[in-house]
Order: sequence, then C-alpha cells, then structure tokens
Amino acid sequence: MFSLFSSSSRSPSPATDDPALDVLRSVFGYDRFRGQQAEIIGHVIGGGDALVLMPTGGGKSLCYQVPALVREGVTVVVSPLIALMRDQVTALRQLGVRAAFLNSSLSLSESRAVERAVANGELDLVYVAPERLVTPRFLELLERTPIALFALDEAHCVSQWGHDFRPEYLQLSILHERFPAVPRIALTATADAQTRAEIAEKLNLGDARVFISSFDRPNITYRVVPKNNERQQLLAFLTDNHEEDAGIVYCLSRAKVEEVAEWLNAHGREALPYHAGLPAEVREANQDRFIKSEGLVMVATVAFGMGIDKPNVRFVAHLDLPKSLEAYYQETGRAGRDGLPANAWMSYGMSDVVVLRQMLEQSEAGDAHRRVERGKLEAMLGFCETAACRRQVLLNYFGERMPEPCGNCDTCQEPVETWDGTVAAQKALAAVYRTGQRYGAGHLIDVLLGKATDKVVQQGHDTLKTFGVGKDLSKGEWQSVFRQLVAGGYLTVDLEGYGGFRLTDAGVPVAKGQQTVRLRRDPEAKKRRTTDALRRGTAKRGGPSAGPSRSPSGLDPADDALWHALRACRLELARDQGVPPYVIFHDSTLLAMVEERPLDRRDFARLAGVGTRKLDLYADSFLEVIHKYA
Ligand code: ADP
Ligand code: ZN
Repeated sequence: MFSLFSSSSRSPSPATDDPALDVLRSVFGYDRFRGQQAEIIGHVIGGGDALVLMPTGGGKSLCYQVPALVREGVTVVVSPLIALMRDQVTALRQLGVRAAFLNSSLSLSESRAVERAVANGELDLVYVAPERLVTPRFLELLERTPIALFALDEAHCVSQWGHDFRPEYLQLSILHERFPAVPRIALTATADAQTRAEIAEKLNLGDARVFISSFDRPNITYRVVPKNNERQQLLAFLTDNHEEDAGIVYCLSRAKVEEVAEWLNAHGREALPYHAGLPAEVREANQDRFIKSEGLVMVATVAFGMGIDKPNVRFVAHLDLPKSLEAYYQETGRAGRDGLPANAWMSYGMSDVVVLRQMLEQSEAGDAHRRVERGKLEAMLGFCETAACRRQVLLNYFGERMPEPCGNCDTCQEPVETWDGTVAAQKALAAVYRTGQRYGAGHLIDVLLGKATDKVVQQGHDTLKTFGVGKDLSKGEWQSVFRQLVAGGYLTVDLEGYGGFRLTDAGVPVAKGQQTVRLRRDPEAKKRRTTDALRRGTAKRGGPSAGPSRSPSGLDPADDALWHALRACRLELARDQGVPPYVIFHDSTLLAMVEERPLDRRDFARLAGVGTRKLDLYADSFLEVIHKYA
C-alpha cells in the first residue's frame, strides 16, 4: 500500500505578509515568482477564474500548486495522463505536500483510500483523470468536501482540432454548473489562437481572465542542417554536444525508430525505441528508464512526449520533418524545461517534403482540411529554408512579434548568405516543365548536370535544351534550389503518387523570367560544435531572448568533478526511493551547489529549489559530497 500522508510543510512562521510568497519560499525553495505567476496566483487565490497560456517550462504548475496550499480545501487537478499525474504527485510528496492521484492504475482499495482522504480533508491536492472526475460517485464526494480550486491541466485536450483531443475533457464544463463558487484555472502550452478560443468556449471559461505569456523559449538553440547522411549527422551532433545528456530523437515511422535506435546502440550510444506499435509493457518500461536514468537517448515517433515532465531533456533532434510548426514547436519544447541551455536540431531534406506531401494527399481528410494542412506544411518548409532568425519566424507564426534577431539560432550565429537565384530557378523550373512535370529532384538534377544516366537516356532527356545547363552548380546546391522552390510555393509535389514536381501558378512568372528570386545559400557543413559559443559564454547575447549563461557542460574540471559527484549522489538517492532523479533536485539546484559551494545547512537552505522539507531530507547527503571537494 502506498502511503498517502506526509506532514504538510506549510511555513510554521510566516516570513512575509504574503502567504503565497511564504509558500513559494518554504515549500518550493524559490525566492520569487516568475513572469506572470504572481499575478495569476493572486487572481486565483482571490477566487477568480483563469485561462493560462504559458510555454512549456514557463512554470505553470506553481500557478495552481501555490493556491492549493493557500486556499482552504482540496485542489482537484484534472490531468490527462497517468504518467503525468504520478510524476507530479511524486514531486509534491518530495516537497512534503499532501498529494495523491486517482486513476485506473490504482486498485479498488487504493482508490477508496484516496477518496476517504479527500473526504476527511487530508489532502491538499488530488490529481484525477477526467473520466473519473465526472462520475456521479466522485462528484457527490466533492459536494460533501470543501474544494479550494479546480485546475484543468493540458486544457488543449478539449480541442477537437488539436493534437491530443480527449473527448472526456468536453464534459468538464459540468464543473462550472455544479460548483459555481469554486474558482477554475485552465492551463496549456499550446500556442495557436484557434485552440485558445476553443478552450475558453468548451470549458465555459468565457468570463475567465486570460493570461498569455510570451511563447519564446530563450534557452533553446534552434538549428536546421541540410540532410547528408542523417545518422552520421546525428551521431556527430550527439558526440559533439550531448555525450552525457538525455534527449529525444524524433522519426516519422516506427520502422525507422527501431533502425535508428539499433544503429545508435551499435555505435556506442545507449538508445531506446518508443512507438505505438510496441507492446504497452515495453513502451512503459522504456519511458520509465528514460525518466529515471541520466544520459539516455529516446528514439521515438510523436507518440512519445505528452506527459513527459523530465526537466533536463537537453536536446530534441528531428530526423524527419514535422508536419507543421505547431508540431515542431511542441516537440522541440520538450527540451530544456528547466531553463538551462538546450538544443533543437533537425536534419532536413527534399525526401521529407515528398513523404509528408504524399501522406497529406492520401489522407482521408476533406478538401478544406487538406488545404489547411498544406498551408501548415508550407510554413514548416519556410522555417527550414529561411535566411532570417529562426526564432523570429517561429514566433511570428504564432502571432508574436520579436523585433530583434535572437542570437541563439543557427542563422543568427552563422548568418546565411543569400544569392540571386533567378536564373537557377528558371533552369530548374524549365527542367521540371520539359520533362513533363513527373520527376523528382534526383532525376531533374541529373538532367541539369548533363549526366547521361540510363533513365535520362531512356526518356530522351539528354536531347532536351535543359540537358547540362546547370553545371555551374553542384548537386547539393541544386537540391537546395529545389527545396527552396517548393518552400517558396513555386513548385508543388505531385499528388499522383510518384512524388514528382509540378509548377504552381506562382512558379509561372519565375519560369518566364518575369520575377526575380533570392535564395539562401546553405552554409558549409562546418566542423563546429553547436553550442560551443554558448559553453564559452561567447554567444552573441543581448538579443531579447538571450539564453541563460549557466550550463553543466561549461564547467571547469574542478567544478565538473563536483558536478558528477553530485549527480551520482542524486541518482543513488533516487534509486533508493524508486523515483526520477529530478524529483530529488533539478539540475539547476545541483548547478547552484557547484557555484555556491554551501558548507552548512544555513547556506544550503538558500539554494534555489531547497525548501524546508528537502533541506531535512537531503542536505546532509549533499553537504558531505561538497565537503569532499571543498
Ligand atoms: P510547465 O508546467 O509550465 O512546463 P513547470 O511548472 O514544470 O513548467 O516549471 C518549469 C521549471 O521551472 C521547473 O523546474 C520549476 O521548478 C521551475 N520554476 C517554476 N517557477 C519557478 C520560480 N518562481 N522560481 C524558480 N523556478 C521556478
Ligand atoms: Zn535567431
């Protein structure tokens, strides 16, 4: 039987006249609220409804956890995933907060025990699956219990057009009818306006105050490289930047997930596969290992990710193009939740575009839906092919203006040259047109380069006027030209299955030489570490989203030794209790130990992330390690 109860660790003697700040300091061990947290928390404690739109890592959990400890009664948190609930409850209990969850993973007697605890007022927070919440049994229980707050986490699950639609979420509007006096807070990291509007409507939150934070993730470095042996590219990226870090590699297909995971293992990098085709036990076991260990790579389809709260995912790599910028933002957003530097890296080529286009055209969706999806794919391509700051393109897509380039993406760090591609575009489009608008980039490039391959000769394409007119550019440069013509909407990938190119209406004036085209010159693949500049602290900073300066990989040797010893200590404590290491302390708290080198409990208590309970539980173990290195 799991234990429900631990003593509540609300501050014994308030240190300020603000109860929320007292809780923040004594329970969570943080000095001050971030961004809009103080405002949101104040509003909710005062009994107001709130709709909170904040990026991943922005600090949403505190927005309901602090009110839960200040207001009378139990806070009911609706959460869509078992893993997410378990993680949050584990983390809260580590802080000495009285929390439990109710979902299908519990036995009947365990469920009853939690219900009794709710009825007896012995819990500060109870996490519930939506289908459980709306049962008559649970609603009746709530009617007999003082409730502090309803928190609706991952509120975008109510959106039918979104990525994680959960029909049970639609029933949550019942809360407003049954418990009109209890404040509600809905939270999501989904950035698009359509979903926002849908949440407010479907959850009956029309009168709620809306808090919208910037969706920028300043600590994430964005990088897109032209595909050129993607596995080797990935391995080099990992070896150069993330030798000991945990991260996720996204692939489109299940088969590719397994191949890449196997390949990484064969090349000395421990990796696990995750996709919907694996047996549930295997999926769960792999996810559990990823969460509870350090340094593992998870190779996965998009089936993996929601509900992964691991704060120190240091990179997200894409070997295939996501189908929209929404998906890209969401997937890369799983990196660097803890605010420390993280990488979003993608290897991208023409084949990605062809595959996605085919999937889209073959999908069952109606025409209108397909048109929307096509537009989204084009925006995704535009992001890949941009010569401007990637963060600006990304935020702009979500309707957020960013006046200055960020200084923390590849195009900012190694500015891309552009060139007058008018003539090249004309030649490429002519090659498409004269070969009958049926061929993909490979064959067209052979024609342009004047290569008399069997296919070229068989089709008589060696007799065309365009045969050999493109010798001034390399194969790689032509690939780039074709990608950009697709991204720019001048060419489209044929619907009829062969994946050949066709000219669009926009392509016609270009083909006729009536319109100029500027193209991006792909940067030379430099032997250069992605985050070198960040590590040395020399990255061009000062842009509005300059990332944080601290990074575990930038430590000098003495600090590095201590860092590793602290990590080992944390891992041992975590293993003893069967919990993920980060619920003991986040990396940022370990880094603070390295920097501050506290030698007694008083100094230890001052570290960010050390509240009263963790001070009691862990100060001695970590102080012992620090003393050894002092
Ligand atoms: P979200 O749910 O929005 O993704 P979390 O609630 O997991 O974000 O918070 C992200 C990280 O920021 C966590 O490591 C959390 O402990 C930390 N954090 C949140 N609020 C604060 C704060 N006021 N001061 C310091 N760290 C904070
Ligand atoms: Zn930038």
